[in-house]
Amino acid sequence: MIDVPPHIREQILRELRKIDPNLPHLHIDSQAARHGAIALMGTLGEAWGLRPDGSFWKFDDEFDMPLTSLEPEREIQALVWGCERFSWLSELLPPRPTNAKECIPCEGTGWLIPSNVVMVNARGFICEQCQGLGWRDSALDGHASVGRKWWQLWKRPQR
Ligand SMILES: [Zn+2]
Repeated sequence: MIDVPPHIREQILRELRKIDPNLPHLHIDSQAARHGAIALMGTLGEAWGLRPDGSFWKFDDEFDMPLTSLEPEREIQALVWGCERFSWLSELLPPRPTNAKECIPCEGTGWLIPSNVVMVNARGFICEQCQGLGWRDSALDGHASVGRKWWQLWKRPQR
């Protein structure tokens, strides 16, 4: 769950209103809309969505996967995926600290493409080391769960 500024909430609602009711029942936009969310990512057996209230969900009607809360440590990845479809979501990503280092495995791109895989319609796989951000903060290196740590920092209320 993240705090969604009012203008982003409005943008999500606008996207929801744009969804064509004639889409196939199993289209990810159609599935997501039935769950009150915009679709951030869809893969075989699982799709991720974001509701205007800032809650993240996973679902897949085709594989009878019930609507479930997305694990908090995957929310950054979900946003990175979502930015591929809705660039304005990038505003919700955690800001890069000035002392952050470029992520080595993905060379700062946030994405990994295995050399034996040809990606057809996706940029690759999100780098688990940096959650797709392309950078890491030295203070967090060595922690087993970088995503969780970032999530905790990021969720700190901003007043
Ligand atoms: Zn990385």
